[in-house]
Amino acid sequence: MNTSNTTSTSASTRSTAEWQAADAAHFLHPFTDFQALARKGSRVIAKADNLYLWDSEGHKLFDAMSGLWCVNVGYGQKSLVDAAARQMLELPFYNAFFQTTTPPAVELAELLAEVAPPGFQHVFFSGSGSEGNDTVVRMVRRYWELQGQPGRDVIISRWNAYHGSTMAGASLGGMKYMHAQGGLPIPGITHIDQPYWIEHGRGMDRADFGKLAASWLEQKILEVGPDKVAAFIGEPIQGAGGVIVPPETYWPEIQRICDQYGILLVSDEVICGFGRTGQWFGCQTVGSRPDLITFAKGVTSGYVPLGGVLVGERVAKALIEQGGEFEHGYTYSGHPVACAVALANIKLIREQGLVEHVRDDVGPYLAAKFEALRDHPLIGDTQTCGLMGAMLLAKAKTSAAGGPELFDPALEVGMVCRSHCFANGLVMRAVGDRMIIAPPLVITRAQVDELMGLIHRCLDLTVAELRTRGQF
Ligand SMILES: *Cc1c(COP(=O)(O)O)cnc(C)c1O
Repeated sequence: MNTSNTTSTSASTRSTAEWQAADAAHFLHPFTDFQALARKGSRVIAKADNLYLWDSEGHKLFDAMSGLWCVNVGYGQKSLVDAAARQMLELPFYNAFFQTTTPPAVELAELLAEVAPPGFQHVFFSGSGSEGNDTVVRMVRRYWELQGQPGRDVIISRWNAYHGSTMAGASLGGMKYMHAQGGLPIPGITHIDQPYWIEHGRGMDRADFGKLAASWLEQKILEVGPDKVAAFIGEPIQGAGGVIVPPETYWPEIQRICDQYGILLVSDEVICGFGRTGQWFGCQTVGSRPDLITFAKGVTSGYVPLGGVLVGERVAKALIEQGGEFEHGYTYSGHPVACAVALANIKLIREQGLVEHVRDDVGPYLAAKFEALRDHPLIGDTQTCGLMGAMLLAKAKTSAAGGPELFDPALEVGMVCRSHCFANGLVMRAVGDRMIIAPPLVITRAQVDELMGLIHRCLDLTVAELRTRGQF
């Protein structure tokens, strides 16, 4: 190995081709077909500021995905960087095992209790969202053991949910292609269909469909046996599944069913937390009262890894008052540097009023722009919630079945559109034929206009390409 230039992290020290060759030779990327990536060469992202990225060729990109749904305060926020540097000098690491603690972890736990919905006074820290959901599985089962009901261990989740990529996270998730590798899900996890009107509710009134989709939870509880069901887990708005905003009737009905059967409700807010939906937490937007809240991503705006579980009164009381050791924890539970950055991040969100900015200003502004997008010939449907948005690329606006007429999935129209986005300086994600965005919360109206300009351009280019191919 050539050690002379392996320590440098500056993009300018090597050519793009050299970065790509070394990348293909050594780096196994997440969720990647290694051969395909090696053939094509990875895109090297070299620096970032505010909402913008620059690749190693100097091309500027508008990052409409906040990195991976996480850079809520945008890139280049010095207060987060300073907090990390200060903490690393003061105390870069100490653990929270064996009855020790560190000031940043204590302060963050305290601050989280302040910004969390009422009733959340405790937190368990992890290093990521996936680990947070592993903790959820352990904690939910521990709770029922403490209640003298150890047989109550089944967790119900939804198809096309995303809850991470560890054994428990991927099992809770409803991505069938993930289950197909490695014998998942693990025992005790079962799934119901998602509240996606286009897939399951065409021709129905959307509000009625919301209630129907929630009733699948009750059906599943009865099928498994109410005395065996421990919890239901869901993202308030599904993120990685394609920004699927359920009908307003869905979550209240889910809540009613959880209450009726006494099962725990877990809100996976790894994306929806920390302002994304225009409230501190997504459960406040959709009107649910969870017992546990998983968080990660936005808690540090992705500057360093951190995740965890906010623990509501019912579970906290059992864990604390009924006593005994909870045999679970991570080396990095409450990592002082991560906690210091999270503190700076949450303070910044507060000082800049970013939650209100999303709720009252740019959220509604984006919603209006997305609604107007429905006039574009390629758009069959749009949905937004706060600063999450989805547009469905469709062959026609109506169909005999109700709703838009979809493209043949084999055409991979979403990928066609995504290529035009990258080529035109826009990072927008494709989930099937749903094009989705989740820009940093610091976005201004002028930047929403800029984003919409880029989106229109890319949609027009996609139409032109599909017409040349005779597919539209
Ligand atoms: C990203 C994500 C996770 C997993 O978080 P990691 O930090 O990647 O482990 C879990 N749940 C949801 C809803 C997510 O979006």
